[in-house]
Amino acid sequence: MSASWECDRIGGTSQRVTGNESALPSLLIPRSSLTLLTLPLGQWNTNCHVLIGGGESIVVDPAAEPERILAAVEGTAVKAILLTHGHLDHVQALDAVRQASGAPLGLHPADAAEFGIVGDFDLNDGDVLMLDGGDLTVIHTPGHTPGSVCLRFGQCAIVGDTLFPGGPGHSRTPEALAQILASLRDKVFTWPDDTAFYPGHGEGSTIGAVRPAFEAFMARPRSPELCGDVEWV
Ligand SMILES: [Zn+2]
Ligand SMILES: [Zn+2]
Repeated sequence: MSASWECDRIGGTSQRVTGNESALPSLLIPRSSLTLLTLPLGQWNTNCHVLIGGGESIVVDPAAEPERILAAVEGTAVKAILLTHGHLDHVQALDAVRQASGAPLGLHPADAAEFGIVGDFDLNDGDVLMLDGGDLTVIHTPGHTPGSVCLRFGQCAIVGDTLFPGGPGHSRTPEALAQILASLRDKVFTWPDDTAFYPGHGEGSTIGAVRPAFEAFMARPRSPELCGDVEWV
C-alpha cells in the first residue's frame, strides 16, 4: 500500500514520512483538524506517530532517532509524550525527546510497572486528552503487554502492537493471546468499519478491511497452546 491509501479511502488523513523531508505536509484528518505523521524509526522500523493540531503536538512512541521526531514537532508546543506500551523498541528516543521538549510522559500504569518506566501521568481506559483541533481517547487493550493502549481520534486510531492487518500483536503466552483477542473483540472491533488504524510497525488498514479475517479466525477452533506471532489465516 502506498502512502496515499488513506486519502483514497477516507478523504485525506495522514502522511507517512520515510525520508528526511524537511517540509511538513499538512493533510487533514476528517472530522478533526489534526495532522498525523507516521515516522518509521530505528532498527525495528517502529512507527513513531506525531499528532499536530494548531500550534500543539503530541508524540506517540518516541521509538528512536530523536532528531527526526524533534524536527517533526518543531515550532509546536509538545503537550505530551504518550506510549502505546513500554517495549524497548518504542522508547529508545524517550529520554532525549522528553529532555528536549520538557513534555510530560503518559503511559498505562500496568506498563509503567512492567517495564519500570516512570511517567508523569497515567493513561487509563476512557481518558480523554485534548489537543488543538481534536480529542484523543485512551482505550486499554491488554494482551501484547499488560498496559497496551490504543488512542482514538476522529475516525482514526493509533493501535501500537495490539493489531496489525495480518494478525494480532505478538503474544508471549496462550493467556496473553486470549487477552489480546478479547481486547480486539470487545473494544477494537466495535469501532466503525471506516476507522483507519495505525500500528506500531508497517502500514495500517481499516477495521472493515480486517474484520472478515478477524471474525473467521475467532470462529475457528485453535490449539490451547497457540501464541506468539499469530496470523489470521
Ligand atoms: Zn511491542
Ligand atoms: Zn513494537
